[in-house]
Amino acid sequence: MADADRMKRYSDYNAYLRSLFGERVQKISVDAGLTCPNRDGSLSWAGCIYCNAKGSGTGAFARGLSISQQIEAGKIGAVKKYKARKFLAYFQSFTNTYAPVEHLKALYDEALSCEGVVGMAVGTRPDCVDKEKIDLLDAYTKDYLIWLEYGLQSAHDATLALINRGHDFKAFERAMALVTPKKKLNVCAHIILGLPGETRDMMLENARIIGDLGVNGVKIHLLYVVRGTALDKMYAQGRCTPLEQQEYVDLVCDFLERLPRSMIIQRITGDPHSDELVAPLWSARYRETFNMIQHTLEARDSYQGKCRI
Ligand code: SF4
Repeated sequence: MADADRMKRYSDYNAYLRSLFGERVQKISVDAGLTCPNRDGSLSWAGCIYCNAKGSGTGAFARGLSISQQIEAGKIGAVKKYKARKFLAYFQSFTNTYAPVEHLKALYDEALSCEGVVGMAVGTRPDCVDKEKIDLLDAYTKDYLIWLEYGLQSAHDATLALINRGHDFKAFERAMALVTPKKKLNVCAHIILGLPGETRDMMLENARIIGDLGVNGVKIHLLYVVRGTALDKMYAQGRCTPLEQQEYVDLVCDFLERLPRSMIIQRITGDPHSDELVAPLWSARYRETFNMIQHTLEARDSYQGKCRI
């Protein structure tokens, strides 16, 4: 099957961007120098059990690079590799709504003023938004594509407590209620498959719940163990068992089958840094896992939404 046909088995993010802008749009990660309430002592110092001290960050801000300098540097690789001319600024590190609204506005304005930037994605926690911040993000939707990325990871409170998220599922429902009236502001939920204590049914229930709440997109991650995290200790003590590769592939296909057809699938597996990865080692083979998911969907003759009631 040709790549284009494979993509039709789920609503692929790159195809979605191409349909909006008529060409490839490349995401560029930016580090705004913010922190996280689960790291700075407001909620805890420890962070989520799978998070290391970098908080998914590039460390670019600490190296003295401004937002616009980071975007200009990111463009060089995107132009060389993809001949990209349009870009999304991706505020990825830590919690990118965790600051006074004036400070956030200055950061977002700087990103959106860079040449070729057509929008931004803002990663945050559901307990770190309020009406003022949502209004600020919504105001940009007149001229730009804006995605708000809420780290949810699981809709089950027992799991959220176990992984030390520092918020419950109600926080996510409140965060969604703030966005629902904003018709052009998109929400992407992050979900992790393979969290300790979660059964297959619990993981698939997450798909139904985010679909029912009107989430526009999802990033599906695999739980992997990163060196120096609390999860690393749990793994060493035999208190968590990572998924096998085929088990994960089957779960992703089951998960996709339960999502609304309209939801944009932004990611279907994780992409760990191999120098930090402890387990499972197969997770470093991103392309192999990606291809296995495509082949399993084909073998099942399945697609996103097939099992959604
Ligand atoms: S919310 Fe994000 S940055 Fe904060 S501790 Fe959890 S994973 Fe790390």
